[in-house]
Amino acid sequence: MCEVWEAMNLRFLFAMAVSKCVYYGMRLLGRQASYLPGWFAVKLCPDYLRHIRKAETVICVTGTDGKTTTANLLSDLLAATGRTVANNRIGSNTEFGIATAMTCSVTLSNRCRVDAVVLEVDEHYARIVCPKVRSDYIVITNVLRDSLQRNAHPEYVAGKLAQIDCPHAKLILNADELCSALLLPENPRVYYAIARQEGDGVTPPNRVNDCPDCPRCGAALRYDYVRYAHVGHVHCEKCGLASPAAEWLAMALDGEHHRLTLRHGEETYTLPMLHDSVFNIYNELAAVAVLSEMGLSMDEICAALEATPLTKTRLDQIQVKGVAVVSMMAKSNNSLPVSMVFDYIRRKPGKKAVILALDDLDESKSSERIGWIYDTDYEFLNDESIVQILATGVRCWDHQVRLLLAGVPREKLVCKQDELAAIEQLHCKDLESVYLLHDMSSYSRSVTAMEKIRKVLEGAL
Ligand SMILES: [Zn+2]
Repeated sequence: MCEVWEAMNLRFLFAMAVSKCVYYGMRLLGRQASYLPGWFAVKLCPDYLRHIRKAETVICVTGTDGKTTTANLLSDLLAATGRTVANNRIGSNTEFGIATAMTCSVTLSNRCRVDAVVLEVDEHYARIVCPKVRSDYIVITNVLRDSLQRNAHPEYVAGKLAQIDCPHAKLILNADELCSALLLPENPRVYYAIARQEGDGVTPPNRVNDCPDCPRCGAALRYDYVRYAHVGHVHCEKCGLASPAAEWLAMALDGEHHRLTLRHGEETYTLPMLHDSVFNIYNELAAVAVLSEMGLSMDEICAALEATPLTKTRLDQIQVKGVAVVSMMAKSNNSLPVSMVFDYIRRKPGKKAVILALDDLDESKSSERIGWIYDTDYEFLNDESIVQILATGVRCWDHQVRLLLAGVPREKLVCKQDELAAIEQLHCKDLESVYLLHDMSSYSRSVTAMEKIRKVLEGAL
């Protein structure tokens, strides 16, 4: 009876009709239509997300880093198994963007036409969105230091996420990240983690560590191993608090053959490793845990992983006369992801050049905020294997100052605002790889830059 009333709620139906008209109208005009259809829906019917018919499975993905990659990966994996999926991958991860995705998931008569909905949800909106869409699963990737002007301190973000009132949703959490692992203790949960690996230290390696003390008693935490920032396995000697045990534990990581060994209960599985960077392995583990909780078999998950490359806007690679040219997204304004990319590059074998194309201008084109550059570990780029660094874009001089402070020899640096002009100065001799680090907002420019790198290498080699 309740559902019949919902379906007949005229205000809701009117809002959906308008939302669909706006969506198809904008698409006809060649616009992306990620935000406005949902804006109309919610403005006309504030409870729009509660009324809309839900798919059999609704997955929300939130957290500081990795939510876009994880949500996209989940969508791709589900599609690879033959399921129909709606998502908000084309844009906005706020309530309005999510309302647009939900509009697309139903017919005009409010009948759901997909098997699953996968929603990337901004941390600030998770407490609003997750209950309204009746999430079955909520992935919280991590709570780490983010853009200072948007998210201040991780405790502030954790406080927002702690307000998610969705008691039946199963949480999929990273046991190696304590700030998110302890959230919403009343909810059912599954943890994933990566076991100690060769090379893991016991001292946080980054300039930034936002979780040095026990959140329960305030004593200094002890790391059994740590990978980056405060991500690792930790315990408190005073009160006994420790990182939770992980149901999904990656044991061996074979980057060379792109395989990872995963332990779940008594069983051990070997899966394709989509990418060998530790942050992408965490994303993959989160996706695998969700799919398994949904009831997919490991054979089915494995086959889907084999068929699914990582989203291209995050990672792209071409070979030019034996030189690997890799385009990687590094969220500028956000010190940890950039530091992690720096760390990843320095660990790769062979002689490398790095091109920094990290613009951190916000929507109002402000150029006042450079604090993130001093939280970022440019010291990782002061490595013998990195033979040249090209600092480009509006921040090129700031990058250069920071690189010099990190001890990078001046003769390794090229500093030019025009990235195509900077690429012309690439030293190609003996180079084995070139890494182009771009921001989400500069992806289209990075495609042009990749083409320029190809031409320079082809001309020189
Ligand atoms: Zn303690």
